[in-house]
Amino acid sequence: MQNVWLHLDLDAFYASVEQLDNPEYRGRPVIVGQGKRGVVSACSYEARRFGVRSAMPVAQAEKLCPDGIFLPVRMQRYQEISRAIMLHLYDFTPELQQISVDEAFLNLSGTERLLGPVEASARRIKTQVRDQFGLCCSVGIAETKFLAKLASDYKKPDGLYRVLPGEEQPFVDTLELSDLFGVGKRTVQLLEGLGVHSPLQLRKFRPEELRGYFGPSTGEYLYQVARGIDPGIYSGGAEDRSISHETTFETDLRDSQALRSVLLELCQAVFFRVAKLELSGAVIFIKLRTNDFLTRSARHTLSRPVVSLDLFYHECLRLVEKAWDGSPLRLVGVGIGGLHSIGEDRQLDLFSDKSDKSARVDAAVAELHKRYGTEELVRARLVKPRRPSGG
Ligand SMILES: [Mg+2]
Repeated sequence: MQNVWLHLDLDAFYASVEQLDNPEYRGRPVIVGQGKRGVVSACSYEARRFGVRSAMPVAQAEKLCPDGIFLPVRMQRYQEISRAIMLHLYDFTPELQQISVDEAFLNLSGTERLLGPVEASARRIKTQVRDQFGLCCSVGIAETKFLAKLASDYKKPDGLYRVLPGEEQPFVDTLELSDLFGVGKRTVQLLEGLGVHSPLQLRKFRPEELRGYFGPSTGEYLYQVARGIDPGIYSGGAEDRSISHETTFETDLRDSQALRSVLLELCQAVFFRVAKLELSGAVIFIKLRTNDFLTRSARHTLSRPVVSLDLFYHECLRLVEKAWDGSPLRLVGVGIGGLHSIGEDRQLDLFSDKSDKSARVDAAVAELHKRYGTEELVRARLVKPRRPSGG
């Protein structure tokens, strides 16, 4: 059976909710962002005409659009509307994967007999979202989630586009490199440096060449997306999406101080990987395996997503202290689950360059020095042979 995925993306979501709740803002440039020194979280299409974009400093947006309506983020309200819409979408399929507050994948495979042609379902979804919730959305349809996501972006706002089976590569060829989800600014710059300005030119590179230039994972990613192949970012259910690291010790670990160091290092690895992928999640879990091969795991769901390494580390420590009876340990693992993309209209840059990441790591290390003193950090450095084995 042919797979049919529909990706739904609410247009300028935060700003549209503000216009919905405040009719006097309709038709006017609305910019939602936190504080004068913050960045723009979302802006209405009227504001985009002035050159305002998401993730731009609010101060810059004020210069571009001095008469704009600047509003704080009201996340609770957005989540409330989001929940109502997502619940409604279950009328179309039991298989729905929400990936952010304003985006979801719907598996419509095999629904044609019941619901009619997929395009008709898509139009019905759009009409219902507009009539019942007063909001506009764009939808994309394709055989894979990745292409459905690109397709929803294709005719935004109020878009509807289907990539027909067999049309994947021609569709990708109509896109700019920066339209390819997951290919961020820096990757585009690096590609342009290599004389690559389009997906078509990108396809001229052999996979080993791309891996050589960009490293194994980015190289492989670029090779696939240039061909319209789904790189699998959204495979698996939304609930069970998680990122974890674990490490196995050459000699059993018995000392709680050493355990704390290992935990800290694992937490850092997980936290920065989650941050780099611009994901967030509220489920924290740990895994311990003792020298008699008994595995203990524990999880805890926070009321809010994990926003700081400090919080993550302390939650893990708490779970470990509860689960560990002091038996010598063979393995320790930590992870964050329930992951989804953060922010609206912010492009996921999977490949932000090293300096960016190391700046963040440095800031975090400085913070850790303050909090834990140098000794534990040095200790974490000394456990190098027990580096996380991945996960
Ligand atoms: Mg959106």
